[in-house]
Amino acid sequence: MNKDSCSSLDSLLADVRACRACAPHLPLGPRPIVRAGADARILIVGQAPGARVHASGIPWDDASGDRLRNWLGIDAATFHDESRFAIIPMGFCYPGRGNGGDKPPRRECAQLWLDSLLGKLPDIQLTLLIGQYAQRHFLGASQGFAD
Ligand code: SF4
Repeated sequence: MNKDSCSSLDSLLADVRACRACAPHLPLGPRPIVRAGADARILIVGQAPGARVHASGIPWDDASGDRLRNWLGIDAATFHDESRFAIIPMGFCYPGRGNGGDKPPRRECAQLWLDSLLGKLPDIQLTLLIGQYAQRHFLGASQGFAD
């Protein structure tokens, strides 16, 4: 990966992290949690951060992350190595609680950012779609997002 590609991705990630597009709908405010290095080979697309991940700012910093790392057979340091793993959820900010659990990911992230981010990750060879929103977006009809 050349230096221009890295700086281009870094610039885009800076824009993503400054995003406030759906701030009025986010009970704890915007805190986009996305990680990616331009050389990453594995892409993990999950749902949206929970409250714990919102607080820490570290993706998959919860019990589901422990299960995922156990399933992958890797430790936390490897999982959080951006040069190996890009971690891009369908919704980047914690969406708040709804009936029976966290609300669905905000649809704005995919509309505003997802394709641009994926376009700057040319070395991805394996994509893990975790949860119904990622699977619907990538494999089937896009539906079920928060309004
Ligand atoms: S949820 Fe996505 S679109 Fe909304 S403020 Fe966060 S990054 Fe921006």
